[in-house]
Amino acid sequence: MSGVTRIGLGIDTHRLAPGRPCVLGGVAIDSPVGPDAHSDGDAVLHALCDAVLGAAGLDDLGTLFPDDDDANRDRPSADFCREVMAQLREKNLRVLSLDVVVETEKPAIKPNRAAMRKRIAELFELSADAVNVKGKTGEKTGAIGRGELMRATALALVAPAD
Ligand code: MG
Repeated sequence: MSGVTRIGLGIDTHRLAPGRPCVLGGVAIDSPVGPDAHSDGDAVLHALCDAVLGAAGLDDLGTLFPDDDDANRDRPSADFCREVMAQLREKNLRVLSLDVVVETEKPAIKPNRAAMRKRIAELFELSADAVNVKGKTGEKTGAIGRGELMRATALALVAPAD
């Protein structure tokens, strides 16, 4: 795909449970609830990885890291990002920009945005101003509004590295 910039989309949902650790965008967040998942349940990094993989024409995250594989149990999702970036380098590609919307009642995203942007930028080898993170609530309606579910939706632009 020489000379071509491509866009990718990733969506990830996780059930929320009281007392679970909450890591979002690679940042440990103080929260009464956290994702109930096989890995660390970082829906933000999962959605971003799938967006990047999609733009690069690679297999999706669930294919690369199956959730029935014990090796992935409670695994930090930062590991998945490193593997995704290694696969991009093999194809001589780089990430140009990332944007993600996080829909959840808790935790509040706003106080954690700056740290999340910085960490995501490190993991995907970008400057922080090429990464954005927005939080939305579910307006007290549906599974997200009742605090049962979190959803992250991400877009990525990927282009040749040189
Ligand atoms: Mg996930």
